[in-house]
Amino acid sequence: MRELRNYPGLPHAWSAAAYLRSQGVLARGYQREAGRVRLAMLGGPTRYEAWVAVAFDADVPAAEEILDEFDALPLPSGSEWEAQTEPDLSRLPTDLAVPCEWCKSDLRPDIDARSREGTPVRCRSCNRDNDPVGRVVARHGPEALLDCYPEPSDPDWIDEPTLRALQLPCQRCLYRLTGLPPIGQCPECAQPYDKRAIIEKSFLDIQI
Ligand SMILES: [Zn+2]
Ligand SMILES: [Zn+2]
Repeated sequence: MRELRNYPGLPHAWSAAAYLRSQGVLARGYQREAGRVRLAMLGGPTRYEAWVAVAFDADVPAAEEILDEFDALPLPSGSEWEAQTEPDLSRLPTDLAVPCEWCKSDLRPDIDARSREGTPVRCRSCNRDNDPVGRVVARHGPEALLDCYPEPSDPDWIDEPTLRALQLPCQRCLYRLTGLPPIGQCPECAQPYDKRAIIEKSFLDIQI
């Protein structure tokens, strides 16, 4: 795995990683703490950086070119951007309380997969509207939203056509399994493979 570039925000990094995957390069966007040690000593607020990493070093030259291309694209409008990167709040840890901005009652029972940024959730106690995503960030910080996106270990992180088209190397002979089914045998060396297992293993060293 190789960290390639950092981006001004997590949606931006996710978008860059999705662009790489759409071109066959296994990549992931994520957020990690920046300067953890120094800031902890100073007691300052935690700062986060958004990064894109590619799984395989052999992909780095191609990925650099694809990212140059991505960086030259016009940024999507606010609404398109949000649609692509809308957090799924039903993935929040079940014990995470989300207090109403006005009366502090827990909004959690009314927050589910359909709760979106800009779509208000009405508090049962005081009957006032809250922005669910805004409330999660205000209470738990932006890192809480990391739980709201699929991880490489989730079956729905990469869809079937993308999985098929990714240039994943055979774990024994490095033959590219591009275009082959999710599970099978390497045509070159007969090593059995499972593409989702390869993907999951590729990002294990990212600490977030
Ligand atoms: Zn309330
Ligand atoms: Zn092979």
